[in-house]
Amino acid sequence: MGRHTKIIATMGPAISSAGVVESLVAAGMDVARLNFSHGTHDDHQRYAEWVRQASAALNRPIAILQDIQGPKIRTGSFAGGSVEVNPGDRFRVRAGRGPAHPGQILIEYGYLLDDVNAGDLIVLADGLLRLEVVAKDEDGLTAEAVQSAVVADRSGVAFPRSRLRVGATTEKDRQDLEFGKQLGVDFVAASFVQAGDEIKEVADLAGGSTPVIAKIELAAAYRNLDSIVDVAQGIMVARGDLGVHLPLEQIPAVQRDILARTNQAGLVSITATEMLESMTTSVRPTRAEVTDVANAVLNGTDAVMLSGETAIGKHPVRTVEAMNTICREAEKGPGSTVEASAAFMERHPTFASATAKAAVEAASDLGLGTIVAFTETGNTALLLSKYRPTAEIMAFTPEPSTLRRMALYWGVIPNDFVRLDHTDVMISTAEEILIRMDACADGDGVVMVAGIPPNQRASTNLMKLHTIGEAGAPKDLDLPRH
Ligand code: PEP
Repeated sequence: MGRHTKIIATMGPAISSAGVVESLVAAGMDVARLNFSHGTHDDHQRYAEWVRQASAALNRPIAILQDIQGPKIRTGSFAGGSVEVNPGDRFRVRAGRGPAHPGQILIEYGYLLDDVNAGDLIVLADGLLRLEVVAKDEDGLTAEAVQSAVVADRSGVAFPRSRLRVGATTEKDRQDLEFGKQLGVDFVAASFVQAGDEIKEVADLAGGSTPVIAKIELAAAYRNLDSIVDVAQGIMVARGDLGVHLPLEQIPAVQRDILARTNQAGLVSITATEMLESMTTSVRPTRAEVTDVANAVLNGTDAVMLSGETAIGKHPVRTVEAMNTICREAEKGPGSTVEASAAFMERHPTFASATAKAAVEAASDLGLGTIVAFTETGNTALLLSKYRPTAEIMAFTPEPSTLRRMALYWGVIPNDFVRLDHTDVMISTAEEILIRMDACADGDGVVMVAGIPPNQRASTNLMKLHTIGEAGAPKDLDLPRH
């Protein structure tokens, strides 16, 4: 039995050749993340090419996730490049770029005085420094430091108590999304979104058909999770910035809640940031990191993500290997069943969801190790995945974009398929491929899920309990390599 939880690895300077990407794929990377907060378009184009080469060389579909920077607000500059702040220090805070005078902090946000009020918080230096806004006049805010820290030029700023009128995207994001369309990325991750309507904006800019994953990293996004879940195709628990915008000690419970609500809604769930952080320099993870990754698996995450560990770390391949081993172990260990609170609950049952549910139940009742799904859009594979079968989901699709996207779905093994017009030929062809792959042997029972008539979107309506060998596989077909 393979690993069900999927692994996302971020590309960056540590990935120095096509060979390293191939090693990452061999180690278990399912999705390559292009982080548009760093690097040039040429860099991202090169990574994408390497991913495609590695995918072809190892015959493993790999998805590409474009993570756009989003409207991150930053301080302006300081006279000496940074400012030291001590508890009780008071600053005048205004909108602007700087350099700031002594006693002043400038923030690159034009609506500062409109949106931030006395009583609100300004958080700087990766969450180390909190300033409380004690007064506001027509000229600026007065804020008092609660802790000490050194704040550098253009440091990220969070306003956990304020609702800001930033758009979902900046000019840079719009150019990056246009570039992502040319690159043919498989998913877009939207950063610093606050509510569902912003996801629609990103989806339109991404071309309308690329699934959008909403990164939950603002307090407002967590408050508005329901509206985001209604329109996004996936949710990422982006613990880095979320840990700046919410008190750190709230993150474990918030993670569990986000994962549960995402899974209940049938969306793809991702847990991100600092999962194996110490492996950026060390050859093995800490016990706490191993426990964190395992707990994310037990919380029901579909995928776990590596950021700096693979982008700038010293041991990118070892880190993916470690992630692979930890996930496998967590999946088989005691208590590995996803908590009931995180179980998928189809709110609007359809032929497809009822068929998927029946297939998972049948595989469980009969102790079958394989569920075969024929899918155009990948939706059937995702539905099966969300019912969390112990059986592997062998998903067959003739659609190249679906093939790559399914690399992110928990428990799904994506397989290239020829387009065939008759259900019986589809079944016998899949049987032949499964035997060639050594995934099944003559006489094995499998559950098959398909749509009749074939090759139509959203048509899943058939579950077949099937014994391998009974279809009489056609031997003369030119099948995709498996
Ligand atoms: C995060 O903040 O956890 C995150 C994933 O976003 P980024 O790495 O882009 O800051």
